[in-house]
Amino acid sequence: MSLSVLAERDKLGLADGRLYIDGEWVDGSDGDTWTHVHPATGEEIGKFAVASAGDVDRAVNAAHRAFDEWATWKARDRGRLLRRIGESILDHQDELNRLQTLDNSLPLSFGAIYQLSAQMAADIFDHHAGWVDKLTGETLPTYTGAEFFFMTLRQPVGVVAAIIPWNAPLMLFANKVAPALAAGCTVVLKPSEYASFAAIRLAQLVEEAGTPPGVFNFVTGEGAATGQALIDHPRVDKVTFTGSRAVGTRVLHATADRIGRASLELGGKSPSIVFPDVDIDATAMLSMGMVSMGLSGQGCVCHTRVLVHEKIYDDLVNKTAEMAGMATFGDPFDPATTSAPLINARQLERVLGYIDKGKSEGRLVAGGDRPGGDLAAGNFVNPTLFADVPNTASIAQEEIFGPVLAMLPFKDEADAIRLANETSYGLGASVQTNDIKRALRVAKAVRSGSFGVNGYTVMPNAPFGGFQQSGLGREGGRAGIEEFTELKTVCIALGDSPV
Ligand code: NAD
Repeated sequence: MSLSVLAERDKLGLADGRLYIDGEWVDGSDGDTWTHVHPATGEEIGKFAVASAGDVDRAVNAAHRAFDEWATWKARDRGRLLRRIGESILDHQDELNRLQTLDNSLPLSFGAIYQLSAQMAADIFDHHAGWVDKLTGETLPTYTGAEFFFMTLRQPVGVVAAIIPWNAPLMLFANKVAPALAAGCTVVLKPSEYASFAAIRLAQLVEEAGTPPGVFNFVTGEGAATGQALIDHPRVDKVTFTGSRAVGTRVLHATADRIGRASLELGGKSPSIVFPDVDIDATAMLSMGMVSMGLSGQGCVCHTRVLVHEKIYDDLVNKTAEMAGMATFGDPFDPATTSAPLINARQLERVLGYIDKGKSEGRLVAGGDRPGGDLAAGNFVNPTLFADVPNTASIAQEEIFGPVLAMLPFKDEADAIRLANETSYGLGASVQTNDIKRALRVAKAVRSGSFGVNGYTVMPNAPFGGFQQSGLGREGGRAGIEEFTELKTVCIALGDSPV
């Protein structure tokens, strides 16, 4: 039986995607479209509009015009709108999860994985609905006596350009739009050209929930043209970007001349530190699962650098290699399928290039090749394990974004912490041990924005972001929503003398 995702597309009644600008669904002004090719089969799935620089300009201007009125909306009404969007996402969750699988081939069985699901997106809107009346300032004691009363106010930063990658379109759409709207900002969002259909449906739900025209705008298209026009636009007050470090630096360059605000959620090379008191089978499954199940290592916080105490190193390497066989490729809508192909041909080539390099940098223990037969038309790569990888090797330092795990031994706790911190990234990290004192020592010492002890996940209310070159700023919770505000200090003269 040959693989096909076209039947699922037809069941979903997928229409050509359009742009949503100033309350209207429109085609791109140049008439350009992008054809989405499914990563598992190479089949053409559908088309959507490519926004020109002129379309981006209209979207940003609409957001600029809508800002003053939106900022005056009562907190109660903004909260209700966000809750309605969250409920509507829940009402459409099966459709949204399926669209996400049409986009990026996340196995549908993994749509149930919380952080990638429509449920998570709905929870993010709910969480932020609760923030609308909690963006409080402070009152401040004065240094110079009682002549002045000082207070601070949190105010919306303005027009937000939101740009998201292809690997988690549901969660990341919500992570940008919910806090921006809750804080009183207006938005122009661009999803990845490799995953736009779930985002298009979410944009429709945002409109249908009663969001006023101009407050939320949505453009699709390629990064280098549509995305660049958006980050370059002088009326964009803040860019919130999730994606690669390479494009993150472009965002900083583009916003620098206008002192534009920017927050960046970038990549990583997250370490998992394994001490000898763990269950070897469970740790092998956890380690290989990170790169072989779900999106096959195409996640920003996949723990792809496994540092293992020398006492259990050989055992863990052998067990982890055995676990490579647990991945099942196939039709992403089949409940038996556990693992995805790479998103596109360019990424396939890149990952195969790293595997080639890895053969001279370390010892190939499992995988390194591609499945054939019905799977040959897709971008599949078998789960791959390299052992004895020096920490300085490219496969230990660079984000591969594919099913490639590097294992290396350490001697003691200090050695493990040193190796973990020898990286230019700092997104996630974890420790596997049953010794709680050791776990807390390591959690404090490793330089990463989030840290797991014997497991790892993300939640809508938990700040998430990177140290070092993994990003700037946080998403989630108070730290996340404050990224969409400016802090104003107000001083009131109390006496007769103004100074
Ligand atoms: P990418 O950087 O290639 O693209 C991300 C987005 O930027 C897309 O929408 C793309 O169209 C757009 N873009 C590309 N060039 C642009 C330009 N010149 N100007 C403006 N926009 C442009 O990343 P990707 O391949 O879609 O996603 C994978 C990357 O995302 C990985 O590095 C991964 O670690 C990272 N990621 C980070 C997080 C996080 O929360 N830290 C979450 C998911 C993914």
